[in-house]
Amino acid sequence: MDIALDTFEVRTGGRCEMVDITAEVAGVVGKSGINDGECTVYCKHTTAAITINENADPDVVEDILLTLEKLIPKDLDGYRHIEGNSDSHVKSSLFGCSEQILVKEGVLLLGTWQGIYFCEFDGPRTRQVIVQVIG
Ligand code: ZN
Repeated sequence: MDIALDTFEVRTGGRCEMVDITAEVAGVVGKSGINDGECTVYCKHTTAAITINENADPDVVEDILLTLEKLIPKDLDGYRHIEGNSDSHVKSSLFGCSEQILVKEGVLLLGTWQGIYFCEFDGPRTRQVIVQVIG
C-alpha cells in the first residue's frame, strides 16, 4: 500500500465563499504517482468545510451560499458562542470537514459536472487543505 500526503493553502477573500480546488487536488494525486485507490480531502478548520458540487455553472455555488445564509443567519436569538461566528461553526458541521474521491488510473473519479470545493464560512483567511492519497 502506498500513501502520499500533501498540503496546500487557500486564501479566501470573503466571509462566505466556495473556492474550486479540483485542479489542486488533481495535482496532488498526479504528483503522488498512485494510480488506483482513493483520495481524502480534509481541512482542520472549525469554520470551513469541504464539499463536492457542480462547477459548470458558477450560479450553483452562489445559490448554495444564498440558501445557507437564509437557513443559518449570522445573528440568531439564543446564540451563546462569544466569538460571534456560531453560524460559521454550524455550516462547517453541516457540510463536514472532508470528502473522499476514488482514484482510477491516476485520475479523480468525479462526475462531468462535479468539482471539489473548499467552503469558507468565516473569512477572509488563509486556510490549509490536506490531501491524502492511498493506493
Ligand atoms: Zn468561533
